[in-house]
Amino acid sequence: MKHYDLLVIGGGSGGVATANRAASYGARVALFEAGRMGGTCVNVGCVPKKIMWTAASLNHAVEEAADYGFDTHPGQLDWPALKSRRDAYIKRLNAGYEKGLGNNKVDTVRAHARFVEPKVVEADGQRFSAERIVIAVGGRPRIPEIPGAQYGITSDGFFELETQPRRVAVVGAGYTAVEFSGLLRALGAEVTLLVRRDHFLHHFDKTLRDELMTQMEADGVKCIKHVNVMDVERSDGKLRIELGTGDFLEDCDTLIWAIGRIPNTDRVGIENTGVGLQADGSISVDRFQETSIPGLYAIGDVVGQFELTPVAIAAGRRLADRLFGGQEGRDLPYENIPSVIFSHPPIGTVGLSEEQAVEKLGAENVTVYETRFTPMYYAFATRKPTCTMKLIVTGPEEHIVGCHIIGLGADEMLQGFAVAVRMGATKRDFDDTVAIHPTGAEEMVTMRNARAALV
Ligand SMILES: Cc1cc2nc3c(=O)[nH]c(=O)nc-3n(C[C@H](O)[C@H](O)[C@H](O)COP(=O)(O)OP(=O)(O)OC[C@H]3O[C@@H](n4cnc5c(N)ncnc54)[C@H](O)[C@@H]3O)c2cc1C
Repeated sequence: MKHYDLLVIGGGSGGVATANRAASYGARVALFEAGRMGGTCVNVGCVPKKIMWTAASLNHAVEEAADYGFDTHPGQLDWPALKSRRDAYIKRLNAGYEKGLGNNKVDTVRAHARFVEPKVVEADGQRFSAERIVIAVGGRPRIPEIPGAQYGITSDGFFELETQPRRVAVVGAGYTAVEFSGLLRALGAEVTLLVRRDHFLHHFDKTLRDELMTQMEADGVKCIKHVNVMDVERSDGKLRIELGTGDFLEDCDTLIWAIGRIPNTDRVGIENTGVGLQADGSISVDRFQETSIPGLYAIGDVVGQFELTPVAIAAGRRLADRLFGGQEGRDLPYENIPSVIFSHPPIGTVGLSEEQAVEKLGAENVTVYETRFTPMYYAFATRKPTCTMKLIVTGPEEHIVGCHIIGLGADEMLQGFAVAVRMGATKRDFDDTVAIHPTGAEEMVTMRNARAALV
């Protein structure tokens, strides 16, 4: 049996960050990774997705360049070339992760790990023990249990496609579904988005999701609502999808399931630990990421809160700061966490939605500032996606509790505003900040139209 100060199961965003930070304090750390180093984000998540989003945005930009007077027009994408460059980039990132862990003297075990006892893990035929173990095993895409489900692919499969899909059905209502629909459409595919209810992005501010629906439809994404896919058939390489309404979607070459993720707790011997799970298989933790078993911690997607890379990283690093860096009380408060949806156009959001603010603070205590405009970038472009900005404020001092943007540049704009919201900025602070002209962002500090919250 090999003994360490810390074992980390999972070499994704959270696991790698925890291991490196703990090792930087001198802890002896072993990290187990069964797949490619870097986990979901690097291999089948944020990174390849952002590359595809950028490619899609460039296709729009070429159209706009023509509107500006350039003698250019959208050309054919060499999908295999893009894929091979993307894959090569990811391989370099994988190597970078390996190197970083090596430089920090973290022992890496490239094998599937399983608990055999609460403080003992087995991997590669060997046993490893530690008083502190971090479970950072992430999750995997969900596939529905219906006939023909195997004809569809998940987000993992999307990044393996060797040829460009032309007629695509995307099933789901979360950010992956809207991101994939938007980027595939911008790259020229015919896209149908199938959602179960009458809208997508359920947990996001209503203005954001309504605006996105309008703009995606204007770009040609067909959205069919109240769908519950019951059956998929394939013949001659074409898919026929039964929508649960008596109607069918026919002749698709690609079907993408984007219906959520399953925590990988069913494959790590969790039953040998006594760790308490939630109904969906994610791990319950306290504010210090500690599970129901002292010394066993869980971070990242496997805890099922804000499934985002920087959240996994922040939780892991702060845990290591506390356990090995002498920073007592260090934790990650799961509030005011900014996030971006790489839709077309993108969304940036932090804090409470209007609906959440009303529920938490009472409608009488919530005021909303909102503006909608066409960015100057599109002044003489044919496509005219709008930008909408919204501030949710509360109390006589008008503290900002929610800040939401959909439109060109929202992805890059939001980070700075998130700092202000976290620091407790008021509407007056925004008003007193001199605008930067001519930008879209300046609209955020010049908003004047207040309205009561909608209940
Ligand atoms: C399509 C897509 C797009 C995304 N885009 C974004 C984005 O734009 N921005 C953002 O912030 N987040 C994004 N995310 C989410 C982000 O990828 C995750 O939040 C993040 O990767 C979570 O990190 P993690 O360490 O918890 O888990 P993961 O990164 O999933 O890592 C878990 C690792 O554990 C390994 N593992 C599992 N079980 C075992 C075992 N028993 N033994 C050994 N190894 C094991 C797995 O192989 C995996 O490498 C996206 C996700 C997807 C799917």
